[in-house]
Amino acid sequence: MRKHTESELCAERAATVIPGGVNSPVRAFGGVGGTPVFIKEARGSRLIDVDGNSYLDLVGSWGPMILGHAHPEVVAAVQEAAAKGTSFGAPTSGEIDLAEEITSRTNCEEIRLVSSGTEATMSALRVARGATGRDKVVKFAGCYHGHADAFLAAAGSGVATLGAPDSPGVPASATADTIVVPYNDIDAVAAAFEQNEGQIAAVITEAVPGNMGCVAPADGFNQKLYDLTRANGALLISDEVMTGFRVGPGGVKAPADLYTYGKVMGGGLPAAAFGGRRDLMEQLAPVGPIYQAGTLSGNPLAVAAGLTTLRLLTDDVYEKLDGLAEQIGKMASSALSEAGVAHYLSAPGNLFSIFFSENRVTNFNEAKAQNTGQYAAFFHTLLEEGVHLPPSAFECWFVSAAMTGEDLSHLETAFSRAARKAATV
Ligand code: PMP
Repeated sequence: MRKHTESELCAERAATVIPGGVNSPVRAFGGVGGTPVFIKEARGSRLIDVDGNSYLDLVGSWGPMILGHAHPEVVAAVQEAAAKGTSFGAPTSGEIDLAEEITSRTNCEEIRLVSSGTEATMSALRVARGATGRDKVVKFAGCYHGHADAFLAAAGSGVATLGAPDSPGVPASATADTIVVPYNDIDAVAAAFEQNEGQIAAVITEAVPGNMGCVAPADGFNQKLYDLTRANGALLISDEVMTGFRVGPGGVKAPADLYTYGKVMGGGLPAAAFGGRRDLMEQLAPVGPIYQAGTLSGNPLAVAAGLTTLRLLTDDVYEKLDGLAEQIGKMASSALSEAGVAHYLSAPGNLFSIFFSENRVTNFNEAKAQNTGQYAAFFHTLLEEGVHLPPSAFECWFVSAAMTGEDLSHLETAFSRAARKAATV
């Protein structure tokens, strides 16, 4: 057995000064039980905990660490930026470089930088409401768009793990304008438009949902959403906080009016963005009347980390990421099949996850029908074998370009032990 004494001590200390000992709920292992390991440092594909245990990392900080940890060029860029001052509260040329890099890769004509995905989606919704003069928003059950009030209705991610359909502290008035429909159900979206004629500002969707586990959009689903919003004078917000710059150079790039980004574009530092059509973005202050701001928006360290990361993400790297995801997904799936564990590998791209369920998963209800006890057994055996999977059955698995052939051999053995353990649940 691995020793976790220092992590246990950290968890005890943390719990007295930080709610649940963590600064973001899913880190607390609520979905799988047990005590989280506290991380001391990370390099390449591996995390090292405070007890000195090493783990192959399949979380990647929930997306940002696509190049692996402490990539020398990213670290150097951050160090160089830090030495020149950490925040100015005035514009810099680096912000233009990052905005140009993002607009050249995506469908956005203009973007604005913020510091978290939550801020990005909250701001995109404000633009949609301001531009249309309407209040209502349609979101999908199981899609997570950060923790702004309007989106905390049937959200996925940590909210799914904790089994909280909603959150106290969110006034009923804040979600009164949020219409929740099942994912992949275009008829439900059409019905929402019929029942709320002239009132819906926007539909928001994850370009490929990754917060109820990874769920593939049905053929043409994103396009149909776009067509429906067109026909009803509403806007489509494509949330690419998770998919952006991960599933391809620009993300999914499905047609939409507004897009949100985060995670990869900050290279592990707090940077996110929202953007889209120029006529919409130009309604933001100081050009237009829609207000949005941030003291640390476009922070020079985050911009340096993000820009360096994006520039290192060439076609070759995406090819490697796609190959790794395919190999790792299949490896886990064959180990589970051999052990006789019912599962469904959902892999619409290099973001993927495995549902411990016999059936194909196309929406949140189907995702919730999986056997989370089996996932917990699988997870804990892997942790013991030195593999860090997401501590929840409702999250994607993230590969990094730093993974090696050795890592794959390690995974093969670990998956087969973990699958045998899952079979006993
Ligand atoms: N949108 C999506 C699709 C996400 O996956 C997340 C975070 N997991 C967010 C928004 C919120 O981003 P952040 O945690 O940076 O606020």
